[in-house]
Amino acid sequence: MNIELVTIGDELLLGFTLDSNGAHLARELAAIGVAVVRRTSVGDEAEAITAAVREALERTGAVITTGGLGPTSDDLTKPSIAAAFGRGMRLDTDILEALRARWIARGWGKTLPKANEQQALVPEGATILTNRHGSAPGIWLEDERSRWVAMLPGVPREMRGMFAEEVLPKVRERLGSGPTSVVVSRTVRTTGIAESLLADTLKPIESHLAGLSLAFLPGWAGVDLRLTSRGRGTTDATAILDAAAAALTETIGPFAYGSGNDDLAAVVLAQLSTNGMTLVVAESCTGGMLGARVTAIPGSSHFFLGGVIAYANEVKTTHLGVGDDTLIKFGAVSEEAAREMAIGVRARYRADVAVAITGVAGPDGGTPEKPVGTVCFALDVRGAVKTARRQMIGDREEVRQRSAQWALDLVRRRLRGDS
Ligand code: ATP
Ligand code: MG
Repeated sequence: MNIELVTIGDELLLGFTLDSNGAHLARELAAIGVAVVRRTSVGDEAEAITAAVREALERTGAVITTGGLGPTSDDLTKPSIAAAFGRGMRLDTDILEALRARWIARGWGKTLPKANEQQALVPEGATILTNRHGSAPGIWLEDERSRWVAMLPGVPREMRGMFAEEVLPKVRERLGSGPTSVVVSRTVRTTGIAESLLADTLKPIESHLAGLSLAFLPGWAGVDLRLTSRGRGTTDATAILDAAAAALTETIGPFAYGSGNDDLAAVVLAQLSTNGMTLVVAESCTGGMLGARVTAIPGSSHFFLGGVIAYANEVKTTHLGVGDDTLIKFGAVSEEAAREMAIGVRARYRADVAVAITGVAGPDGGTPEKPVGTVCFALDVRGAVKTARRQMIGDREEVRQRSAQWALDLVRRRLRGDS
């Protein structure tokens, strides 16, 4: 089965919003063996929407749209697509009542704004797709030749939920039960190793990857390795991908920390849990990013106590006990200062593990000895302290993100027993 996607919204054409909806739908459909053969983006303009959907329908007979289902005047998707089908619009009283009930339940008042009533207008003969994640219902419209359009909201969270619950089952039903070849991927996440070194490390096993494609995807979190299988059924693809991912992980050794969307902070929390240890942080240039990474993980409160954002020297000395002489002699960005920050924060909150970060995030403040991107770390595990200095690449934001990731990796490497 071939499908076309039409994503709708001026913000897509102006470049303020990236078409992540199109990307998500393409991946999800590939995984069940449906090819997305074309993606079109159009603005909030009735004729453009009608034309794009009509043309896509002529080519494939199967179209998914996102966006333009909201209550505002730029939300034109339903009437424009109804026009492509030669259908009129009718008021759906069930939808209207549901919208009213939702409005009242949220405590926004007794009368539904006029603008919301537009969301209860649906094309004649349409099937309503329930929206459990927001207000605008989706629409499934089909003609006598079984050509169909599924209209989903633009808000990514609502779109993903409605696609999985309402559209995917219908698409599967149309696919039937014959053998299909699917496109499936697996990601192995690495950190602390350069892309080129990783490529060298993997050279010997690349020829054993059973025709899977291997992509290197570098970012501030490290290098993700994505294995992709094409042209196989789901069962075969899964088995081959599992075996290949295991081989990669084994070859990469300590640099591999997870798979899929695994977050390094979650990996570290799991280690703390296994060891029955608590964590505190002392952050200078990252200003709380490390704490934010850890607290983003549900359940972090069992193992993460908190810490000190010690940005100014005065906070480093008064709250963490960093010596004035240390700051004068070595500077705030030094392994010596990081060491005292880690020791100070661990003692203060009586934690098992403390990690400290102090660096030059830029764009100003660099010197020949300590250029922008110089970051010093210290890790104190029950009194055994180690320090490190790294040169991070990227702009201010990236230096800070890389530093938080690197600090987490210091903890991970130590708790798994690496030197
Ligand atoms: P609502 O009911 O909230 O008005 P809608 O269906 O009218 O939803 P839009 O107004 O088009 O949707 O978009 C709502 C939000 O979703 C916007 O913030 C927009 O940036 C985002 N969005 C829209 N289309 C896409 C897309 N293709 N990819 C990612 N985000 C998108
Ligand atoms: Mg819109």
